[in-house]
Amino acid sequence: GKVLVSGANGFIASWVIRDLLEKGYSVRGTVRSTAKGQHLLDLYKKYGDKFELVIVEDITKEGAFDEAVKGVDAIEHTASPFHYKTEDPKDYIEPAVNGTIGILKSALKNAPTVKRVVVTSSVASFLNFQPGLQHLGESDWNTLSVKELEEKGWDCLGIHKYCASKTLAERAAWDFARENAVPWDTITVSPPFVFGYAIHEVDKPENLNESLSVLYKALVKGTTPEAELTQSGNNWIDVRDLAEAHTRALQKDDAAGHRFIVTAGPHLLQDFINIAHTLDPSPIPKEKFPPAIPEDKLPGPTITYDTTPAQDILGLTYRTKEETTRDFLTDIAKRGWY
Ligand code: NDP
Repeated sequence: GKVLVSGANGFIASWVIRDLLEKGYSVRGTVRSTAKGQHLLDLYKKYGDKFELVIVEDITKEGAFDEAVKGVDAIEHTASPFHYKTEDPKDYIEPAVNGTIGILKSALKNAPTVKRVVVTSSVASFLNFQPGLQHLGESDWNTLSVKELEEKGWDCLGIHKYCASKTLAERAAWDFARENAVPWDTITVSPPFVFGYAIHEVDKPENLNESLSVLYKALVKGTTPEAELTQSGNNWIDVRDLAEAHTRALQKDDAAGHRFIVTAGPHLLQDFINIAHTLDPSPIPKEKFPPAIPEDKLPGPTITYDTTPAQDILGLTYRTKEETTRDFLTDIAKRGWY
């Protein structure tokens, strides 16, 4: 079958596409310009005409995906802003929400062949920002970020802007499926922090995508304050496992209708530093790393997620922090970015 992947040049999408191609699917990726697609044509050269690109200049425009969706069997919608650089809500909520609604509208209009739609959501759509231990699962929704945005507008906290964009976008996908006679199953796949390494185009460390940039600053640059390195409440997944989750979401009958949370578990950034110190051989000189901190001095997890559906239905297993740390640092060493 042929799968449409939006935001093809992104960190996650590049791995999603590679996984699909490896498993024999044909892929049509969308990017905003020809220039943004060239690297992908090189990256996937060995798959020949199984990979093609289409340009969707502005995903917020009515009918933007009308041509792109034609003839595909499934859609993996990943395009959405994930950075904290924007001043204007228009650059943020609109592409997330209207991009999601737009691709679904186009599919409903022009692609009766679509049997599955997988939307890359985020644990941002589940968080409740309550103090104390939290264990979140498929029935939880982040209502606070949306409320904060509605009440305070663009003066709300930065974290709520991103979280609201993801919550509203995910909600839009479920609402659309409920309110229209759609021929497809809807599935959302929600990761927390996605680590690993980049195969998409990144010319310099400053242009790393948001989540790899967090790891890079913590491990290699040493610019992350210790309070942040030891801050609890975060979870992670390796991008290769996340890509696998996206593919399996297309393949497993029982996946339909699920809001999969996919994560290898909780982490502190300090965990990755501690592990970096144990690597032998070390991909980059160990004096680059901030100091290790004994485990008994570190806080335990505060937020955990129910990953049973992802395990039972998608059969997902996860890479370890050791493997991800080694592969990340090996890639950084290859690029000479230390
Ligand atoms: P990237 O920044 O690497 O990729 C984002 C992709 O979305 C790019 O292709 C980008 O295109 C596209 N995009 C962003 N804004 C727009 C816009 N206004 N119009 C058109 N396209 C746009 O991020 P990731 O790969 O990390 O993120 C992919 C998805 O995964 C997003 O939905 C994100 O919310 C989600 N996610 C990511 C997590 C992470 O830790 N990385 C965690 C949880 C969820 P362009 O390059 O042209 O800007």
